[in-house]
Amino acid sequence: MIREVVRHANAKINLTLDVTGKRPDGYHLVEMVMQSVELGDTVRIQKTPGTGICLKMKGCDLPEDQDNIAYRAAQALKIADVTIEIEKHIPIAAGMAGGSTDAAAVLLGCNELFELGYSSEELCDLGLKLGADVPFCILGGTMLAEGIGEKLTKLPPFTLPDGAVILLARPEAPVSTREVYQKLDAVCPKDHPDTAGMVQALREGDYTGVAARLQNVLEEVTIPMHPVIGRIKEIMKQCGADGALMSGSGPTVFGLFSSEEAARAALTRIREEHLTDTVLLTRPAGR
Ligand code: ATP
Repeated sequence: MIREVVRHANAKINLTLDVTGKRPDGYHLVEMVMQSVELGDTVRIQKTPGTGICLKMKGCDLPEDQDNIAYRAAQALKIADVTIEIEKHIPIAAGMAGGSTDAAAVLLGCNELFELGYSSEELCDLGLKLGADVPFCILGGTMLAEGIGEKLTKLPPFTLPDGAVILLARPEAPVSTREVYQKLDAVCPKDHPDTAGMVQALREGDYTGVAARLQNVLEEVTIPMHPVIGRIKEIMKQCGADGALMSGSGPTVFGLFSSEEAARAALTRIREEHLTDTVLLTRPAGR
């Protein structure tokens, strides 16, 4: 009998993010190309008879009760007597789905450990009640997400040319996802991503085409609130990024670099200008 499951919970970036409308209940309708990256949290799940749900967060001071989405994921499965230990590496409230991916890892890990027999589709339905990004985090890889983020279409994996890397930079700019979406209604973005073109570029394995089509409508709201995001994008481009974009509602910026040397030059400049110390290299993660 297995007593423990350890899962790597991948962060995500958005290669595109568009808002196409609003549902009568106020949820925004989106169209986004999502990509898992190697950066992730480590989620260790153990059967611990008699403990109830016990959550331990390492490397951060996030709550360890119902206020943590990972705890609510275990509750959603009606699991008792489990200890979940999360080693946090994904920056928090960064636009990288850190909470959603922890919840997804708990759903997947508990399903395996307790032999619950849920299909991925059933786990996605449960996950959606916890958060719109949870279904994507359950499936991972490269996906087109529509609806409120739950209608997922698998796309060919986004791969980088040899030697290319993704640079992530997360400035200390407090961003509330809810506030950004609310403000978007007043902005009425003029420029929309070419989602169909992005999907086509992925289907053709066209890295340059992907880099040229990175676009996120939420930048129009978040960058004026936090100009540091715009400055980081500028530095990445000056240092030779093939493309740079804010992920989700921000504030994390990612850059696609053909060479690690160029990415490291951008990393050094971002630190030297004291824009943030949270700068790291990663790569796309497939499923
Ligand atoms: P998204 O990209 O899905 O909008 P995000 O990356 O912007 O998400 P998260 O890191 O998921 O944001 O955090 C959003 C809020 O959720 C945080 O302010 C935090 O207090 C809360 N939270 C609850 N549980 C977790 C968790 N396990 N990991 C991170 N944040 C959590």
